[in-house]
Amino acid sequence: MQIIDFHTHPFINNKYNSCFYPNIVNYDNFKSILSSAGITKICGSVIYNYTDFENIKKLNIEALELKKELNNFYIPGIHIHPNFVDESIKELNLRKKQGVNLVGELVPYYNGWKNYYNKNLHIIYEEISKLNMVVSLHTDLNTDMNNLELAIKTFPNISFVGAHPNQKELLNTHIKLLKKYDNYYLDLSGTGLLRYGMLKFLVTKTSSTKILFGTDFPICNPKSYVESVLFENLNTIDLENIFYNNSNNLLSFEFL
Ligand SMILES: [Zn+2]
Repeated sequence: MQIIDFHTHPFINNKYNSCFYPNIVNYDNFKSILSSAGITKICGSVIYNYTDFENIKKLNIEALELKKELNNFYIPGIHIHPNFVDESIKELNLRKKQGVNLVGELVPYYNGWKNYYNKNLHIIYEEISKLNMVVSLHTDLNTDMNNLELAIKTFPNISFVGAHPNQKELLNTHIKLLKKYDNYYLDLSGTGLLRYGMLKFLVTKTSSTKILFGTDFPICNPKSYVESVLFENLNTIDLENIFYNNSNNLLSFEFL
């Protein structure tokens, strides 16, 4: 079975290695660890807590370098920053020309910004909408979900993929948005999936067409995420949607 991990953070420079523990993951074993967990393709951005655009651009450049190295195994995601509107728009256009269709995972708290909708982001989203790109974004208990809803509602042509189901209270907010907006999706990375029954509950309340498999590797153990999905008594169609179809539909891999 194909398994696309929609949410990873690859790196070449070990400075950008997000594994919490030293000397476990490195550039050379990154792909083989994922492959041995059964994962056949990955998406995601290179992350580091830079707050200035010159440095943030370096993360995008590294993502494109990785694309050259990992080829079809990797779908790169790039960063934008609401404090740098012109630079972000330039970056979006440049990377789109290079074949990039994914923005994020965006991790605002890590890069010195906060909410997902404001005047500057409106301008950036207009460009993202024009370029037909998908946005992957971090959520946690500090995320202003009402503000995020404004972005989802204002830009129905952009597919927004929220990351991390989290605990039940935030999960219920995700569910509300998933039911209300065709252009909102949720990836399973990070906190949430290890709560037994969460995924079955999520599929029952929404639809397997709105849920994408993700791990947050190298922060999280990829094999435990694969097994957690398989252990939730889902039917084959749901499993195919979550593991493969939804990511494939959003990002049209055949063009990459
Ligand atoms: Zn992440």
